[in-house]
Amino acid sequence: MRDEKDGFWNPEVELMGAEDIRRLQLERLKGVLQRCKNSPFYRRWFRDAGFDPDAVRTLEDLRSLPPMDKDTLRSVEPWEFLTVPREDIVRMHSSSGTTGRATVIFHTWKDIQAWTELGARCLYMTGVRRSDVFQNMMGYGLFTGGLGFHYAAERLGAMVIPSGSGNSKRQIYLMREFGTTVIHVIPSYALYLLDVFREMGLDPRRDTRLRIALVGAEPHTESLRRRLEEAYGFKAYNSYGLSEMSGPGVAFECPFQEGMHVWEDAFILEVLDPRTLEPVPEGEEGELVFTTLHREGMPLLRYRTRDLAFVYPGRCRCGREHRRISRIKGRSDDMFIVKGVNIFPMQVEKVLLETVGVGTNYQIVLDMVGSREEMRVRVEVTDEIWHGDVRELQSLQKRITAALRDEILVTPIVELVEPGSLPKGEGKAVRVVDRRVDLGGE
Ligand code: ADP
Ligand code: ZN
Repeated sequence: MRDEKDGFWNPEVELMGAEDIRRLQLERLKGVLQRCKNSPFYRRWFRDAGFDPDAVRTLEDLRSLPPMDKDTLRSVEPWEFLTVPREDIVRMHSSSGTTGRATVIFHTWKDIQAWTELGARCLYMTGVRRSDVFQNMMGYGLFTGGLGFHYAAERLGAMVIPSGSGNSKRQIYLMREFGTTVIHVIPSYALYLLDVFREMGLDPRRDTRLRIALVGAEPHTESLRRRLEEAYGFKAYNSYGLSEMSGPGVAFECPFQEGMHVWEDAFILEVLDPRTLEPVPEGEEGELVFTTLHREGMPLLRYRTRDLAFVYPGRCRCGREHRRISRIKGRSDDMFIVKGVNIFPMQVEKVLLETVGVGTNYQIVLDMVGSREEMRVRVEVTDEIWHGDVRELQSLQKRITAALRDEILVTPIVELVEPGSLPKGEGKAVRVVDRRVDLGGE
């Protein structure tokens, strides 16, 4: 059995030095490129780009291949990507379809095992152990959040409660009845669940045994994490993944919580300027682009995620040299423009969740009023504020407006609303409702 005292699931790989990682990457890349010759899509892709997979001598050589994105995946039959016979495929998953038609990824048995290993590595790194009760509050099914970490937690030996998403009261019941210690959850949902705890007269710090939360699948701020940690009394670790790279398990925070380690034995990470597609210097923000090194059925080469982040310079105190990416600022397509100013929803979230009196949900609504653009930020406040003195409500409204103006350089209309009144789904939060396009056409 593994030594419970050391924090490494796979010390050999996790503690590999940077140079050894690069060497391993090159070796694996060569293997992947050979496999890709079996795929009708890649044969065309290589030919059209004048790219010779046999001529790759260094990791940099991969850069002569054009990157691909969701549109590339949508433009061909997914089977054309396969480097194995169809019978070898044992499972498919798809993206959530947040930004259009969902894309499909096929997995072989080995692919599922490799993904499971990566997941177990992530969980173990944050301190999850066999004695833990792991409640998986992510959607099961095509979405990768559910099944991905389900098997990872089982591999590790924890007891899994496959509760899936939604059904909040039942989630809380399960947590209490079976002594859940670890949850895997979408951050906006974890925040929302606090309202349900309160409604039930419960305090998660007192009435649960939660000690670790793995939060991911959508952008969220450091302020949101801190709120969750304070209210629940657990440590919340940021978890990054996407269905195209199998799902959760691509990059994960270690106990130091200073960026997420990208598992570079399984992925080649590039951070590119989205306009020029040239690499940006370390520490500068760019688009994350990944190549799979661990997937046999449907490898993806230079896949553009649209996710914006930067690489932390320097070494992590945990001893792992797998590079760390920052919190994801959002997808490049999350950005919206009001009065000529570029704004990311996370800038708004940061201000809101740092403000005392703000509740658990918010929404940004964009409208045209005549020829003028209007940005409205609807903010749920806490029960105390809502039922308290109206002057406090007014002062809170003023403070939020001023803080938002300082952060985003546009003065929005701030509307404070009753706790629980904004729409809340079970999946990823919809932070921006843009009604400008519909109105514009008249
Ligand atoms: P879709 O792309 O349709 O939303 P996925 O379920 O594959 O489908 O979602 C992956 C995307 O979710 C990532 O590309 C990223 O934009 C977002 N995401 C996942 N984890 C995180 C995280 N920890 N922080 C910020 N964004 C995340
Ligand atoms: Zn670390």
